[in-house]
Amino acid sequence: MQVARLGGPEVLEPADLPDPEPGVGEVLVELAVVGVNYIDTYFRAGIYPTALPFVPGLEGGGTVRAVGPEVTTVAPGDRVVWTNAIGSYATLATVPAAELVTIPDDVGLETATAVALQGMTAHYLLHDTYRVAVGDTVLVHAAAGGMGLLLCQMARGLGARVIGTTSSEEKDALAREAGAHEVLRYGDDLPERVRALTGGEGVAVVYDGVGASTFDASLACLRVRGVLALYGAASGPVPPVDPQRLNSGGSLYLTRPSLFWHVRTPEALAHRASEVFGAVAAGDLSVRIGGRYALDDAASAHRDLESRRTTGKLLLVP
Ligand code: NDP
Repeated sequence: MQVARLGGPEVLEPADLPDPEPGVGEVLVELAVVGVNYIDTYFRAGIYPTALPFVPGLEGGGTVRAVGPEVTTVAPGDRVVWTNAIGSYATLATVPAAELVTIPDDVGLETATAVALQGMTAHYLLHDTYRVAVGDTVLVHAAAGGMGLLLCQMARGLGARVIGTTSSEEKDALAREAGAHEVLRYGDDLPERVRALTGGEGVAVVYDGVGASTFDASLACLRVRGVLALYGAASGPVPPVDPQRLNSGGSLYLTRPSLFWHVRTPEALAHRASEVFGAVAAGDLSVRIGGRYALDDAASAHRDLESRRTTGKLLLVP
């Protein structure tokens, strides 16, 4: 699939491109599964600028077909996944060897691809951005989304009390199944309802991937010295913020983290991937596949994701 001009889902078009050849340090992978992520819509729309035309998608999983010079970490036949090499909406891709994670034998290729990017993101958000402790109350927006369902499960596993937000009853049920103790609808009175559930105190951390439409409420839901982890912008980017608001809100912390900075070294990538795959293999983390689409039909996946019709993880099948 190729994006030759920026725009809505309709700009995702099938293209017949030459087979790529792996260069120095690169690996040729035949894709079995493509992970769809919200960030793919930011690239497609031009919110994250990149040169045109491009093959979108950061996340893929498949089998190594060939390795370029100086590659020693993987070999043909290995099952691999990656989360940070643009061009995964394809049947074949060349990926820097440093970006590849070898999938452990006890995790399926589809599951590994479905959990890689979002699982490692949930991992750093809960362990590093704010280190969730037993007894903390945390707020997870879009709790039935790809990220949301993983955050709910993992936060509960760490001993937190989890409050989720969603937009429908069907999504409420999924968030509860994933571990949310309470599920609320968005709305102007969200901070009041969150305070009512926390003895007036507010939550230790808000995980907010929704952005523009939730930002003000997220700040208002925090306890004194609470952390707002603004990790995405599904409803649009947040306008500039006066830092004084963090003071008047109670010495609050605001951060805008991204996975890239949390898997920068091969060691960090291997560690985070092994924590996530280990949790999956142990049965402590489950991945809900909310939809599988033909690769040629990537536009439908984007349309569904952006219109809030989906739950869990979306995949494309080449
Ligand atoms: P989701 O499956 O969570 O889909 C987005 C959800 O956001 C929707 O289902 C919807 O849930 C909610 N939402 C609220 N308002 C809107 C709106 N106006 N338009 C669209 N959706 C809205 O997507 P992902 O799990 O793929 O990603 C979630 C967020 O996490 C994104 O912002 C993404 O960029 C971010 N992300 C950030 C990473 C990082 O490292 N910083 C890494 C991975 C993801 P509901 O209907 O319940 O409101």
